[in-house]
Amino acid sequence: MHCGLCLPHCPTYQLQPLERYSPRGRIQLARTVHEGNLTEAAHHRDLSDAMDSCLGCLACQTACPAGVEYEIIFEAAKESLAQSPARAFTLKHVLLTLSMRHVFTQPRRFKFLSRIVRVFQTLLGSPLVNFLPKSLRRLLQLSPRISKPFFGDAFVEKPNTAAKPSVMLLSGCVMNTAFADIHRDTVLVLEAAGFHVQVPRAQVCCGALGAHNGFMNEARTLARANIDAFEMDAFGSEAAVVVNSAGCGAMMKHYALLFGAGDPYHAKADAFAWRVKDFSEMISPQMFASPRQDVKITYQDACHLEHGQGITAAPRALLSAAFGQVEEIQSPECCGSAGIYNLIQPERSEALLAKKIAAIEKTGASQVVTCNPGCQLQLRYGLASAGSSATVVHLATALASALHSPE
Ligand code: SF4
Ligand code: SF4
Repeated sequence: MHCGLCLPHCPTYQLQPLERYSPRGRIQLARTVHEGNLTEAAHHRDLSDAMDSCLGCLACQTACPAGVEYEIIFEAAKESLAQSPARAFTLKHVLLTLSMRHVFTQPRRFKFLSRIVRVFQTLLGSPLVNFLPKSLRRLLQLSPRISKPFFGDAFVEKPNTAAKPSVMLLSGCVMNTAFADIHRDTVLVLEAAGFHVQVPRAQVCCGALGAHNGFMNEARTLARANIDAFEMDAFGSEAAVVVNSAGCGAMMKHYALLFGAGDPYHAKADAFAWRVKDFSEMISPQMFASPRQDVKITYQDACHLEHGQGITAAPRALLSAAFGQVEEIQSPECCGSAGIYNLIQPERSEALLAKKIAAIEKTGASQVVTCNPGCQLQLRYGLASAGSSATVVHLATALASALHSPE
């Protein structure tokens, strides 16, 4: 429709009000490329600039009155770029290809590399870190600390003697090796809510990072493996698949988009989507009889929970029940994390983060709660750089602390 109603909602257009940094401009450009109306060089140059600067936050999709599915256009354009000969030998593309094809699709290799990263991270506590270039120090500050042990290696399934309803947890890739604490808190809250938690061993990475960077074949391979791994729980029932990372949940709810209508996995993915639940959808606020009054809380909407899954009320209801009032951040845009956006687009990411941190500081909150580990790392980095003492935690961690509170 070219109405432009999405433009004021686009964070990159707010930063640089040029048509090519708007959803409408990006869609038009993708269409021109699709229709073969750009030369190969122009295709690479113009589409790269427009699409690599896009956060994939999907705020435009929520704002669009015509129901334009920007996510599909975005992923198709990224795939076209990933296959572009002009990009084939760039360092960024080579690194992305290696990691998407040979690391994220191979859980054992992913865990092996995570252990190597853990060794390098011991540098963080040493004065040697001050001799690293600024960009490398920033990378270290934004990277998650690798967990010891990994969540999946330490998880022991409890016997389900009381015949509780089962749920199956996505342990994932980075969540498994670097956010074991969030998974432990998730299990703790799910068990307190009366669920029996299973963690299927055959599961793999959700594939979101691949799909958002144009590696659709790798995303399809991972989607098929997960649909099969979560087909039935240990008791033969189609239990809910609980996801505590907004980006992974949005991906798994939309697996059907990866498969053509004739592919048998299209129908499987459709049926699977109904079973995928964000953690916040599984917990009732009634679990929290009397709210903690000792922490002033604010909540940061993760883009892939708000725009990718349409969930905004459930986390707020839980936090209100557990902590009383939830302060609102008067800056609804993406925090600039967006998968690996903060690593590959540092200037734009820092500009968005500065705006978000200023809005958080205005709330006066001592704790920021979010439902996505990427946002958590980005906000932690931003608050620490601004000299703030506010902490950032996942919703599961906040709720687990409320369960253990003496109040
Ligand atoms: S996904 Fe986000 S950054 Fe990209 S065009 Fe839409 S609103 Fe803008
Ligand atoms: S994507 Fe939707 S809101 Fe944006 S210009 Fe097109 S029709 Fe309008």
